[in-house]
Amino acid sequence: MTHTPEQKDIAPADAIKPPNLPTWVHRFDQAEGNGPNLLGGKGAHLAEMTQLGLPVPPGFVITTKACLEYFESGGRLPDGLWEQALAATKDLEKSTGRGFGDPDDPLLLSVRSGAVVSMPGMMDTILNLGIDSNIAVGIGHRAGDPRFGLDLHRCFIQMYANVVLGVENSKFEQAMEKQRHRAGVSRNADLGSEDLHEVISLFQSMVESEKAGVVPDDPYAQLESAVRAVFESWDTRRAIDYRNFHRIPHDLGTPVNVMAMVYGNADDKSGSGVIFTRDPATGENKLYGEYLMKAQGEEVVAGVATPRPIADLEAEMPEVHRELSGVAEKLESHYRDIQDIEFTIERGRLYILQTRPGKRSAKAAVRFAVDLTREGLLTKGEAVNSVEPEQVYQLLLPRLDDTSKDEARKGGRLVATGLGASSGGATGQVVFTADAAVKAANDGTAVILVRSETSAEDVHGMLAAAGVLTSRGGATSHAAVVARGLGKACVTGTESLEVNQNQGFFRSGDLTIRESDQISIDGGSGEVFLGPVATIQPQVSDEKEMATLLSWADEIRRLEVRANADTKLDATLARELGAQGIGLCRTEHMFFDPRRLEMMQGMILAAHSSAENPEDPAVREAYHSALEELREFQVPDFEGIFRAMDGLPVVIRLLDPPLHEFLPGYEEILAEVVELRTRGDNSDRLADMERLLATVNDMRETNPMLGLRGGRLGLMHPAIYEMQVRAILEAADNVRAQGLTPMPEIMIPLVADGNEMSRLRRNLEETARQYQSGNDEPVHYKIGAMIETPRAALTAGEIAESAEFFSIGTNDLTQMTFGFSRDDAEGKFLGSYVEDRVLDEDPFKVLDRPGVGLLAKIACEAGKSTRPSLELGICGEHGGDPSSIEFFDTIGLDYVSCSPHRVPVARLAAAQATLRSRGLSNRGNPTV
Ligand code: PEP
Ligand code: MG
Repeated sequence: MTHTPEQKDIAPADAIKPPNLPTWVHRFDQAEGNGPNLLGGKGAHLAEMTQLGLPVPPGFVITTKACLEYFESGGRLPDGLWEQALAATKDLEKSTGRGFGDPDDPLLLSVRSGAVVSMPGMMDTILNLGIDSNIAVGIGHRAGDPRFGLDLHRCFIQMYANVVLGVENSKFEQAMEKQRHRAGVSRNADLGSEDLHEVISLFQSMVESEKAGVVPDDPYAQLESAVRAVFESWDTRRAIDYRNFHRIPHDLGTPVNVMAMVYGNADDKSGSGVIFTRDPATGENKLYGEYLMKAQGEEVVAGVATPRPIADLEAEMPEVHRELSGVAEKLESHYRDIQDIEFTIERGRLYILQTRPGKRSAKAAVRFAVDLTREGLLTKGEAVNSVEPEQVYQLLLPRLDDTSKDEARKGGRLVATGLGASSGGATGQVVFTADAAVKAANDGTAVILVRSETSAEDVHGMLAAAGVLTSRGGATSHAAVVARGLGKACVTGTESLEVNQNQGFFRSGDLTIRESDQISIDGGSGEVFLGPVATIQPQVSDEKEMATLLSWADEIRRLEVRANADTKLDATLARELGAQGIGLCRTEHMFFDPRRLEMMQGMILAAHSSAENPEDPAVREAYHSALEELREFQVPDFEGIFRAMDGLPVVIRLLDPPLHEFLPGYEEILAEVVELRTRGDNSDRLADMERLLATVNDMRETNPMLGLRGGRLGLMHPAIYEMQVRAILEAADNVRAQGLTPMPEIMIPLVADGNEMSRLRRNLEETARQYQSGNDEPVHYKIGAMIETPRAALTAGEIAESAEFFSIGTNDLTQMTFGFSRDDAEGKFLGSYVEDRVLDEDPFKVLDRPGVGLLAKIACEAGKSTRPSLELGICGEHGGDPSSIEFFDTIGLDYVSCSPHRVPVARLAAAQATLRSRGLSNRGNPTV
């Protein structure tokens, strides 16, 4: 595209649009009726604020449709776009009274991205567009401050070179840091004209030596390439990664927001800031945020200088503070949501540059939802819909223990205090780079990422770290905002620390802390401790607002929520967290402690001999007494669980894994046998090991996942299931004798056929009949099947003839439907599959609706048509995943079952699913 003078000299927007060309450009004051899908979040809000009469600088939005069209046509600006943009620029000249490219009174522009779903820091911004060296002089002249024009020019070159030409921003930042050092100042604002001249020529030669292109002087050329660069920022690696992580669709596109610049660095009565309408860490109803005088907004969020709390503005500029508070109130009640507002004060006059839903900690999200409902601004359903289910999970994350913190303080281990930017506590080894954080986390080491400040390039490290500590930046710095959303503990602005991330250490006074040293951070108080501090698990009962919100969710939801729990402790925790029963008790988990494992191994060897010599009374006796031993400890285990779940259903699954999984591996035994033989050992040990080797050899399988396990094991070794059924019924009797109400549901895993199920049921019922004979009021129990093979799903109608309930085992059903062995797939190729979008999601985390989901649906329908009273549940890991829960609601399950810690998540997600089925969609809230 070329920029002819004729094109510049163009009529206003409406006049030039040929009738059949789409409107690619909307002025803020003329954009009614166009929402975020077309204008992006930022653009739609700017337009809306303009129409609310708030002081927004004039501007226009180039639509997301234009961005998509740009990509569609392989990087060509859509027909008519440029003409419309030029016309809109003319309008800006009129409304500001300034000229684009006019050195005497120049109009400068900000050009920013602003996707439909907010992606902070992920995309690009160029400020002061329209400047060149002449104009910079002109601006300085008008302002009576030459350094002002120079600083705008410096900032433009840096941003343009970074965003359009791809020169790494850190190179410019390093150069600035050197210049500040040379000049003996700590802020850019304190650099003098001479310094800035030097920086500008240095920047220009840096751009030249990078051979990336030139920074043009022609403002229209600047504008065109900036528009293209913003479009293209939608498809950068970091934007794609961000969208993948947050499951944001890739086909939304970004609009371009073009706005007249206002200058927070114009004079001593100018400044920039960011406020939240409520405290984003706690949800408290007070203005929260910070500002920096004589600074552009970028400086406030970049964390280069530590800004002042917004409360100080009241004393410094009371009028502006009052106006700002009014804007905050108006915006919060207009959007009925916490707002994150960017503002600039130019020569004493307030401008609002942006508003968006405020990113908040889990605590703040919950408190805000509850407060607004009490204030009558939200309904209970809206409150439930306004909190992300994952946030209630975050709220129960560990924090530092008060006593242990006190001890650390008394022991002189408090090394610094910064700003508590994201609550929660973390203890871990110090790392200084995002990559080191990822590596350590992969090795299972908890780490704290320590940086002077963070940027978008650090997000993968922040994800991997237990906490983040920065020496610079405030409560709205990148580190703070991202950590809050991720639910990670974060301390920022710890200025007493000198962080040398390149050399791998930081200093606090005389103390030097190096990579791998342990520290602890408290994201609430901002304290940083040397060494570990004990962490505690918050109790739901202490989280009053969360309990209230969840009680509203309980009033709304249709799906019940049970827990997967194998011990009394887990069952108790699950009930505290609101579980309405147990959906899966995996009995094999009861055999894993060393003493029990030994008994289990004895039983397996006896079972094997008994299968080989069924008539041998001694062998039979040994098998019987081995089973008795197991039964004796299973009974109290089950009693504990029934007691914890008094009056609620408890699904107990009979033994599922192949028996050889409880025995040592073949190679391990073989190695010992060989060693004993080589040593010429003739002891009993050798004979025992040789017998064990032969047994393991007999039992081992090529593909144990598809071998003698689940219901097949129950048919081939009936005595094991019989023992378990007796133990369940005996435990239930014992608990009932204490006045409680046990509700056992006995579940058979991995059935694949109606006949198999009916035989198993017959065996179990016979055992129960024998055990309960003579008992006038036997405990009522149910027998049901897990549906976890595709064949079971497809023939569920026949299986339901012998089952009173189904529980969909989506873990195995996913493995068997895809033909993926989970352990192999996750380690070897699933990551690439998701990254390369062969699959949209990891199907072991988010239910695959078209395949596994369809089988689950078929199973439920077929089962219900055989037995209308059939109880339907799901107990795979998908039972704790909000998106999968939504699907389970649509296919009419009665309950989902998940790990105890995810019960609150499932309660909220189930309520949101009900609301969605009533047409009320989840508006959610931004968390990152
Ligand atoms: C399942 O397969 O979904 C299930 C819950 O069983 P497990 O994970 O124990 O195989
Ligand atoms: Mg299974």
